[in-house]
Amino acid sequence: MNHSEAAEKFTKDVDRTTWHDKTLWFVREKRDKAVFQIPEWEALREAGSRIKHNALSNLDEYLLEFEQNALKNGVKVHWAADGHEHNEIVLQILKETGATQMVKSKSMLTEECHLNEFLIEKGVDVVDTDLGERVVQLANEPPSHIVMPCIHWKKEEIGELFHEHLGTEKGASDPKYLAEAARQHLREKFMTRRAALTGVNFAVAETGGFVVCTNEGNADMGAHLADVHIASMGIEKIIPKARHLGVFLRLLARSATGQPITTYSSHFHRPRQGQTMHIIIVDNGRTTQLGRPDFRNSLKCIRCGACMNTCPVYRRSGGHSYHNAVAGPIGSILAPNLDMRKNADLPFASTLCGSCSNVCPVKIDIHDQLYKWRQVLAAEGYVDSTKKQGMKLMASVLSNPKLFRFSGKAGRTLMRLAPFSVSNPLNPWYKQREMPEPPKESFREWYVNREKK
Ligand code: SF4
Repeated sequence: MNHSEAAEKFTKDVDRTTWHDKTLWFVREKRDKAVFQIPEWEALREAGSRIKHNALSNLDEYLLEFEQNALKNGVKVHWAADGHEHNEIVLQILKETGATQMVKSKSMLTEECHLNEFLIEKGVDVVDTDLGERVVQLANEPPSHIVMPCIHWKKEEIGELFHEHLGTEKGASDPKYLAEAARQHLREKFMTRRAALTGVNFAVAETGGFVVCTNEGNADMGAHLADVHIASMGIEKIIPKARHLGVFLRLLARSATGQPITTYSSHFHRPRQGQTMHIIIVDNGRTTQLGRPDFRNSLKCIRCGACMNTCPVYRRSGGHSYHNAVAGPIGSILAPNLDMRKNADLPFASTLCGSCSNVCPVKIDIHDQLYKWRQVLAAEGYVDSTKKQGMKLMASVLSNPKLFRFSGKAGRTLMRLAPFSVSNPLNPWYKQREMPEPPKESFREWYVNREKK
């Protein structure tokens, strides 16, 4: 299903669509309140953007510096060119450890690499320990949001799911009760798994250390109890200095959930005694994106999810409609880089209103990049021919004043005399819209008449 088909499926449930929209807007408002509390917010955004710009411009040096420092700290460093290599490295580490079970905490990169499917096929039992991620894992579906993976689920539905999988009381939907049940269920997993995988929010070149941000402490629990800690990071997670963390930690939590800081911002530098620590540095198309001048800035993303929470299309179409690990506006820029044919629909899933760029804490020009992707995809032949011909026709009408005036008049007459010609089920634009009353005259005619009077 492409985005519009999947979105149509989602919006059939009107209650859920309205509730999803409102819930995400509530998070957006929380973000605004948190942001307005600090007068230096714009300066922080500018600083974050510039630090990332510097990091991306010197990525080769910073990555090697990071590797050297991590090695000095006693960490094993691996490089993976793509998702498959990443998955093979994880499997190899697990085999060397003799682990057939692993706990995993919030890593969108492993979603991007389809690690769970790969490991399960190889006989490894992987348990996602973030509560939201565990919910979607039990439901056998991918996360729909990078920060709130099960934001599309209602508590009553989670109650049913837990009743089926965790044996909670039928009909119970009290969040505290359900969270406690999940805690008990996950505790056993934490205590018995010898391997833990975490994501990486920021990797510091200067120290070889990295930071993982969670609100539940699940990354810490997994990493501290396991014999082996594997951390998977995309190459763009690098920042030059430890002092830059002060900028990003303030930007991240406020933008994501409106909190001043995440509950746990855990700094990992070296394995504890008796433990092995691995870092897998993954490219998976990022170097290609870095080489595209128009889209390079998308690698500044710190995965706060603010662009999703504010996006009118995301809020009303749901994360799964983007059929990609990272959904929403930023996902629609990242995905075509990985596979233009498969993801050619995504840059069109936007109104280009620019709200995403306004909230982005690292000032990514998101809506401009979406617009640019549309041009690239059309030039490369990935836009379907109807849309292409339609655009050509529109361009000829808009560039010819006489034709433009005639088309307006003809359109208004047609809508008045034969409304069904546009308002019919074959026209997707009108499927969920009421047709407006056609005006008697064009704006131009109205303006000229007004001037005459
Ligand atoms: S693009 Fe910006 S707003 Fe969207 S997730 Fe990334 S950092 Fe956050």
